[in-house]
Amino acid sequence: MYKMRLWSARNARWLNRFYEVLLRNLILLHPLFARIGYARLDKFFLAIEKIIKGFLFDSQSCGQCTLSYTGMSCPMNCPKAMRNGPCGGVRPDGGCEVKPDMPCVWVVAMEGQQRIDKHERVVKFVRPPVDARLKNTSAWLREVRKHHAHPELESLQ
Ligand code: SF4
Repeated sequence: MYKMRLWSARNARWLNRFYEVLLRNLILLHPLFARIGYARLDKFFLAIEKIIKGFLFDSQSCGQCTLSYTGMSCPMNCPKAMRNGPCGGVRPDGGCEVKPDMPCVWVVAMEGQQRIDKHERVVKFVRPPVDARLKNTSAWLREVRKHHAHPELESLQ
């Protein structure tokens, strides 16, 4: 829903803050998660992420969330799947080249990112290429495992 996506980018600052707090708390739960097993928890967390991030960002559950770097605008909604910035076909009104009635996800991302960090003049959008194998896995749990450099991370990636 475009309206909700735009709302999320307009509220990127506190949404990002909320995510940081959530992640910090999830990281604290690492011993419990490791005990239960990340693989067993993945479906549960994915279901929660699909509801929350699906509603707020039209998330496509790529499993490698970039929202904190892209102003709470999900780049997976770009029809050309541009992951590292706009394609060059953005319309003068900021509309998408492929879907004129949709604001370009990267224009929205730039606006949202400036709300997260007003002082950041050059927004660093460059991200690693998307790994299709991680689609429909929990991005939140991946971040927790990354933080702890858990050995399971390698086997699940
Ligand atoms: S205009 Fe923006 S959203 Fe549309 S295809 Fe290009 S990069 Fe993607």
